[in-house]
Amino acid sequence: MQVLVVGTLGIDTVETPFGREDDILGGSATYASLSASFFALPGIISVIGSDFPEDYIKLLRNNNINTDGIQKLPGRTFRWTGSYKDDLNMATTIKTELNVLEEFKAIVPKSYRKIKYLLLGNIDPELQLKVIKQMDSPKLIVGDTMNFWIAYKNEELKRTLKYLDILVINDAEARQLANEPNLIKASGIIRKMGPKILIIKKGEHGALMISEKTHFAASAYPLEEIFDPTGAGDSFAGGLVGYLAKTGDISEPNIRRAIIYGSVMASFNVEDFSIRKLLKLKSNDILKRVKSFHKFSNFDINA
Ligand code: AMP
Repeated sequence: MQVLVVGTLGIDTVETPFGREDDILGGSATYASLSASFFALPGIISVIGSDFPEDYIKLLRNNNINTDGIQKLPGRTFRWTGSYKDDLNMATTIKTELNVLEEFKAIVPKSYRKIKYLLLGNIDPELQLKVIKQMDSPKLIVGDTMNFWIAYKNEELKRTLKYLDILVINDAEARQLANEPNLIKASGIIRKMGPKILIIKKGEHGALMISEKTHFAASAYPLEEIFDPTGAGDSFAGGLVGYLAKTGDISEPNIRRAIIYGSVMASFNVEDFSIRKLLKLKSNDILKRVKSFHKFSNFDINA
């Protein structure tokens, strides 16, 4: 295995202007590991309840995702209900049911401990930290979080942030975490909390990478049809870390390339509900979109 993905495996109910789907497969680890699986071999650390369909585990395995780190506990699986109105960049959480997540101990199997690329998907920051501490010597630690954890586990999140090389976060959450409306100032404040590089996701407006030395703005892939933005952030992070693991290069120019691969994965994911689009995707589709991305975002500096 090349990428360790920590995150939720969940059952979602999602409403967008294009429809509503009840009890569909979701969770940050689901999207992130599937997206990463196009580039590298992922293993998952997560928890499910006794109601989690066995078929979903088979589906992950069929996509070359190692599931030895998934613990099954008595009780109900993590559930999230969310809705999007006309602004598809803004998810409104209607209900979060942590369920078995509250009992989860996040034990890393021995076979995972030497993995070099660690993606701490959106999950309780205490669990993220527990996982970091069990790993031998990761080469790269990338973390994600969301408003729920910024609000309810702020101190725990700040303890985890100290260990991150890269924090992937959306713009509203960066403002919330830093308590600062200006994104550039906010990113400086957050980098002081630990992460050396901040990647700020701005939904349909792309992503911004900010480190001490550099600043890189990538637009989002222009799409006319977006059905369900759920999992865009996780597919972005999965694509980003998967690509870095595949190439074994964490230099700044390669992180820029990885951001484009992440954006492309997110752009496919939002074209259908749940993981449906990712399941139909072929490596060649990804390459085609990366090339077209390059074409439209390139410019000649000479007049
Ligand atoms: P994204 O749209 O990429 O931010 O992630 C959407 C996924 O995150 C959904 O499938 C949810 O199951 C999952 N999710 C929602 N709330 C949380 C939470 N508080 N912690 C972890 N995962 C969550």
